[in-house]
Amino acid sequence: MLDGTLSTGANFTPGDAGESRWTQAEAEKIYNLPFNDLLYRAHTVHRAQFDPNAIQMSRLLSIKTGGCAEDCGYCSQSAHYPTGLKASKLMEVERVLAEARQAREGGATRYCMGAAWRSPKDRDMDAIVAMIGGVRALGMETCMTLGMLTPDQSARLAEAGLDYYNHNVDTSERFYGEIITTRSFADRLETLANVRDAGIKVCAGGILGMGETADDRISMLVTLANLPVPPESVPINMLIPIPGSKLADAAPVDPIDFVRTIALARILMPLSHVRLSAGRTDMSDETQALCFFAGANSIFVGETLLTADNPGEDHDAALFRRLGLKPMAPAARQDAAE
Ligand code: SF4
Repeated sequence: MLDGTLSTGANFTPGDAGESRWTQAEAEKIYNLPFNDLLYRAHTVHRAQFDPNAIQMSRLLSIKTGGCAEDCGYCSQSAHYPTGLKASKLMEVERVLAEARQAREGGATRYCMGAAWRSPKDRDMDAIVAMIGGVRALGMETCMTLGMLTPDQSARLAEAGLDYYNHNVDTSERFYGEIITTRSFADRLETLANVRDAGIKVCAGGILGMGETADDRISMLVTLANLPVPPESVPINMLIPIPGSKLADAAPVDPIDFVRTIALARILMPLSHVRLSAGRTDMSDETQALCFFAGANSIFVGETLLTADNPGEDHDAALFRRLGLKPMAPAARQDAAE
């Protein structure tokens, strides 16, 4: 199984009750396979589960920007660092829905809304619920990232019809304290459990390029793969160093190591959508093409992410044409109004 010969690795499905399914040692052996063997294996797993030429397209909107109480070392929105970002209040529901309509016209099938909070306040929940209902009525899948959630808050979002909740584990448990001190790795896992228990699909991944080792990257993916149910969506970000932040001078990631990480994510979580997230502007088309071959099948579209640059629609459309890729159809939903 670990020698690079044909093996799908698709030996479980999300929903399997879960004894630990991957060990760090197994995952390290896969990660360190000769590159061609690793890619062949990852692509084989990918092809067994997905249309290899279909890419899920999400659009991300910052609904509340900056002034965050957390000290995430990679983030432009933390109040702990002089990043120069202007903080704003929670966006009005109507404005969010107008942006969502535009995103739908641009081909996005999932709308992700992010707020720079440690956790949502009860006074904000009515507006959040209205945003979820409004975006669902447009026929799009909904995703939110609002910080830590209690079981009650998770239940309220589930009741509103939220499809996905994003909450990244960011890195390995070992390295976590080097990057964030205002919350713990265990806090992250607790929110992920609350979201899962409420019946919301989970989006959880991490960031490469923060000074972590290959073992940290592998450990992060093993943690995600060994959750009671692996996340349906796994965003893998390449750090965009933010001037003023703690990681402003972080060294860039070797693109080959980035592709290896994507391939490992695909093998460890065969049924998950693996998303190429932040950092695509600094990636060559060839690196992105290798990532798609290795099993990435989701991207963010649009000129900006929460606060960072993203390749524009024109560039993505040209890349899709060159690679023969097509947008993935949205998951069918019977209650979509239009
Ligand atoms: S990553 Fe999220 S929680 Fe951390 S500082 Fe940025 S907005 Fe706040």
